[in-house]
Amino acid sequence: MPAARSIALPETGQPRVVVIGGGFAGINFARHMRGAGWQVVLLDKNNFHQFQPLLYQVATCGIEPDGIIYPLRKLFDGFGDGFRFRMCEVEGIDLASKRVSTDQGSVRFDRLVVATGSATNYFGNAQLEACSTGMKDIREALDIRSRVLQNLELAACTDDPEEREALTNFVIVGAGPSGVETAGALAEFRAHILKRDYPDLEIENMKIFLVQSGDTVLKGMSDHASQRALTDLRSMGVEVLLGHRVKSYDGRVAVTDAAMEIPARALVWTAGVKGNLPEGFAESQLARGHRLKVDRFHRVLGIDAVYALGDAACMECPEYPDGHPMVAQPAIQQGRNLAKNFHRERRGRALRDFVYKDKGAMATIGKKRAVADVGKLQLGGFVAWLLWCFVHVLFLVGFRSKLLVFTGWMANYLTYDRGNRFIVRKFGEH
Ligand SMILES: Cc1cc2nc3c(=O)[nH]c(=O)nc-3n(C[C@H](O)[C@H](O)[C@H](O)COP(=O)(O)OP(=O)(O)OC[C@H]3O[C@@H](n4cnc5c(N)ncnc54)[C@H](O)[C@@H]3O)c2cc1C
Repeated sequence: MPAARSIALPETGQPRVVVIGGGFAGINFARHMRGAGWQVVLLDKNNFHQFQPLLYQVATCGIEPDGIIYPLRKLFDGFGDGFRFRMCEVEGIDLASKRVSTDQGSVRFDRLVVATGSATNYFGNAQLEACSTGMKDIREALDIRSRVLQNLELAACTDDPEEREALTNFVIVGAGPSGVETAGALAEFRAHILKRDYPDLEIENMKIFLVQSGDTVLKGMSDHASQRALTDLRSMGVEVLLGHRVKSYDGRVAVTDAAMEIPARALVWTAGVKGNLPEGFAESQLARGHRLKVDRFHRVLGIDAVYALGDAACMECPEYPDGHPMVAQPAIQQGRNLAKNFHRERRGRALRDFVYKDKGAMATIGKKRAVADVGKLQLGGFVAWLLWCFVHVLFLVGFRSKLLVFTGWMANYLTYDRGNRFIVRKFGEH
């Protein structure tokens, strides 16, 4: 249902394309729309773009939060009347009347681009969802940071060994890149910070469990990368539990399907994502993983004038029968391709279908430890770590963010210190 009032927007006489989501796909689409003859209206529930690949570093006190978020209005500074941003949460889409309804009012569109990304998938387990923490945005990353530090503070206050054990056990579920990177960063925190900051806690008190239902870590990367990451994690003291599926967690004990019980007051869930879509789409328009089915021109199948990009879209094709991987590059490339097609259409040229250029995959385990699959090259150790640092700084949005993250990393590299050990607002108080 459209909201009663409309969001104020200038009428420019140009047709209007509304973009929902200022993530990788949305900003790459909007930035390349200059001169295409459309008024671009970008809607996002946040007034910033966030660089999700480095959320885990905020969660583990590695970098400042403002190093990985960037104001959307600043990003589009100088775009003039052809561009407008409105901060609002989209609630639904009325396809018949071509209106988007939001918590601030409704917006009419001539065309619509859905780039709303993905959400954590708890596979219907409400208890797990309520008691664990996901890592999908900056707030959750800060929650994890507060929780880790809070638990250590509480552990230092208690002389009950069972209580202390539960407070210093950390469980991470899902050994994809986010889980592996978080576990590795926590292990470094334990090795270099714990002893200095918490002299009353023994290093063996703090256990880090990485739980994975499959038989390997970093599934989807090469065997070389998986093996190397596994060896590195174990050598850093991470307890990697393969073939275990966490089936319940009540905030106190995590239980796996192999009946293993882990007392822990913190559980980070990185075991799955699903498309994050506003209301208004029919079941038949959805593919596996709750993503919108699109054709090779990003058009949502069966709906006129509506497109979907990035994690929210599933473009089934022979190379990727389940759609492209839910990572940054497909989102970036799809956003650019769709914008270029708007330009081509304006010039009366044929539209170009989307062909994904896979630039490889990488994950870091710790300082000087990373793995990277780039084409036929399988890299590990220091070289992969340097490449990982370079690529992440390169793709961060804005010079200030690049500078902040780079200098933060240099300081960490030289001292192993992590300066952001603040509990600014306690976990659970908001
Ligand atoms: C912890 C983590 C680590 C990752 N690591 C990597 C990595 O190392 N390499 C890699 O390539 N990829 C990584 N990814 C995946 C990558 O970040 C995503 O694939 C990518 O962000 C998808 O881009 P997108 O534009 O589709 O969605 P997003 O970047 O998620 O953007 C979606 C936008 O939509 C907005 N939005 C959502 N719903 C609404 C609504 N109802 N109303 C208004 N606005 C809304 C959000 O605020 C957000 O700005 C990681 C993801 C996570 C969570």
